[in-house]
Amino acid sequence: MADMADTDLEDALELLYACPVGIVQATLDGGIVMVNPMAMNLLLPISADGIVVNLFTVLNRYSPELRSKIREFTDRQGTLCENLRIFVNAAGKNGAADAHVLSCTLIKINDRKMIATLSDVSQQVVQEGRLRQAETWFATLIDSVNDFAVISLDRHGIIDGVNPAAALLTGASQEVMIGQRLDRFDTPEQGGSTYSALEQMAIAQRDGWHLDEGWRQRANGERFWCQRLLAARSEDMVRGERIVSGYTVVLRDVTRGDSDSARLKEMLTTDHLTGACNRAHFFELAERQRSRRNLNEAPLSIIVLDIDCFKQINDNHGHAAGDTTLKLLTRLCRSLLRATDTFARMGGEEFVVLLPGMDLDGSVRTAERLRIAIAAMPVQLGDAVINITASFGCAVMDGNGISLAEALEVADRCLYRAKRGGRNRVEPALSSPVSSPVAVTSPVPRARRRRAADLTPP
Ligand code: GH3
Ligand code: MG
Ligand code: MG
Repeated sequence: MADMADTDLEDALELLYACPVGIVQATLDGGIVMVNPMAMNLLLPISADGIVVNLFTVLNRYSPELRSKIREFTDRQGTLCENLRIFVNAAGKNGAADAHVLSCTLIKINDRKMIATLSDVSQQVVQEGRLRQAETWFATLIDSVNDFAVISLDRHGIIDGVNPAAALLTGASQEVMIGQRLDRFDTPEQGGSTYSALEQMAIAQRDGWHLDEGWRQRANGERFWCQRLLAARSEDMVRGERIVSGYTVVLRDVTRGDSDSARLKEMLTTDHLTGACNRAHFFELAERQRSRRNLNEAPLSIIVLDIDCFKQINDNHGHAAGDTTLKLLTRLCRSLLRATDTFARMGGEEFVVLLPGMDLDGSVRTAERLRIAIAAMPVQLGDAVINITASFGCAVMDGNGISLAEALEVADRCLYRAKRGGRNRVEPALSSPVSSPVAVTSPVPRARRRRAADLTPP
C-alpha cells in the first residue's frame, strides 16, 4: 500500500513538474502551500521583492480584487474566477506587441484551501488586439466605401451580413437580404456567362476565390454589368483539411465605371461647346477610314463649311449668341447626316464632314442639302430671330491617291472660292466632272481675307 502511495505521489509530482500550466495550491489568505515550476516561472518575475510566498501579495499590484473575491465567496467550494486576465504589463514598451498578460483561474476546494491555475496569454491578447483592429478597420471600410458592395455568406451560402452599398447595388434593403440566398438579389442573367453563387462557392472552396464579370439583375429586374469576387473564409486546418466558415462577396457595378471611361472618352473626342466631334478625333477617324478602305471602290469625301459673316453675330448679339448659333448649326447638320458620317468642328465657326463611301457628286448633294437647311433655320437669339448662311467646299479621296491633308487643302480652297463667289454656296474640287457650282444670293458679299489664294484655276 505504502509503495502504491509513493508511486502515486511521484506520478502526481511528475505531472505537476511537466504541466505547461502554472498550478498553485494556497490557503484562503493566499499563503502558498505548493507551486509547480511553471507557476514559479510566471510569478517570480512579477513579484515586487523577488519572493513568492503569498499568491495575493505577488498579484496584489496587478489584481487587487483577487483578495476580496475570496472573502466575498461564501460557498464551501467552487470557482471564484475563471480565466481572469491579469495585465502584468498591459502595453509593454512597444505597445501591444510585448504586452504581458496572465490568465488566472481560482477554485476554492474546501474551507481552507484553494487552487490557482496560471498561464501566459500574452500572445493571444496581442492577436486578439490585432483582430479587433482589423475588424474595426474592415467595418469602417465596408460601411463607408460606396463603390463596393460587400456581402457575407455563411458556409451554406446564406447571406448573414451586408454593407449599405450592397443594398444600393442590389436594390433590396439590408433587412430583406439577410437570411436569403445571394442569387435572389444579384441574379445571373438568363443565358449569360456569369456564374451562380453556388458555382462560385464551389470554385472558391477549391481555389480560395473566384472572380466573375457579366450582366446581372437587381431585385427590380434592372440589368447591370457586375464584377463579383467571391472568396472563401477558411477556419483552421482540421485533420489536414481546410474548413470553410463562410464567404465574402465583393460586388462592383461596373456600369458606373464604364460611364466614367465613357465620359473621359467623350471629353477626349468631343468639342465641348457644340458636342460635335473635335478636330483631333476627326483626323484620327479620317485617317483610320482612309487607310482601311479601298478608295477605288468606296471613296471618302469631305465637306468643309464655314458660317458666313459670323463675326457680325458676335458683334451684334454678343458672344453667347454666337455660341448658340454654333450649337444650333451643329444639331441641324447632324440631324441631316447619316449615322456613319462624322461632323466635326475644326475651330471657330468652321466645320468638316467626313462622308464614307460617298463620291464627289454625293458630297456636293449633301452639302447642298445642308446649305439650304442652314439658310432656312430660324436662329432665336434672345428676342431676335436671325438667319444665317454658310459656305461649302467639297473634295474626295478616291483612287486619286491624295492624302487627307491634301484633300482638306483642296476643300478649303473650294470654300474660299465659295466665299469669294458671294457666300452661301457650295464649291466642289474642279477636277471633278461635277455640275457647275450652285450660286445663290449672299446676304453680305465680302471677300474672305484670311485664306491663302485659291490655287485652283477658275
Ligand atoms: P466669313 O464670312 O468670311 O467667314 O466671315 P466671318 O465673320 O464668319 O469670319 P471671321 O474669321 O472674320 O470671324 C470669325 C469669328 O468667329 C471671329 C471669332 O471671334 C468668332 N469665333 C470663333 N470661335 C468662336 C466661338 O467659339 N464662339 C463665338 N461666339 N465666336 C467665335
Ligand atoms: Mg466665317
Ligand atoms: Mg472662319
